[in-house]
Amino acid sequence: MSEKDRFDGNAVELTESKWKERLSEEQYSILRKGGTEPPFQNAYFDLKDEGRYLCAGCALPLFSSKHKYDSGSGWPSFYAPIFDENVKTEDHTNFSIFGREVFCSSCNGHLGHVFEDGPQPTNLRYCINSAALKFDKT
Ligand SMILES: [Zn+2]
Repeated sequence: MSEKDRFDGNAVELTESKWKERLSEEQYSILRKGGTEPPFQNAYFDLKDEGRYLCAGCALPLFSSKHKYDSGSGWPSFYAPIFDENVKTEDHTNFSIFGREVFCSSCNGHLGHVFEDGPQPTNLRYCINSAALKFDKT
């Protein structure tokens, strides 16, 4: 993990029409509208290659293959983000069931949810939509 991947505080802000131009329909529905893709039918749930997972909206590095594990959920699962400040979370109204919502710190895109049933050392499970991510094999 390289320091240059750490979120530098620069927010990416675009209008809704710019987001629609930049993103596919599926990416838009997840990142900008809080949608969820189907489990087991997404690009990265079983990907084991080494690399970084960037935000599909703004290319901020969010997760690393070093923290990825097979949760069996059918979505890419990580026990930690690449740097804590690269993602932010917000309590759901009923977070014991739905977890906390996870956003990209830079573009505020919805990524997925985090639950407290993950592996050591964090006990966290970041359950993230593949369509919100772009794998970068480096
Ligand atoms: Zn982003």
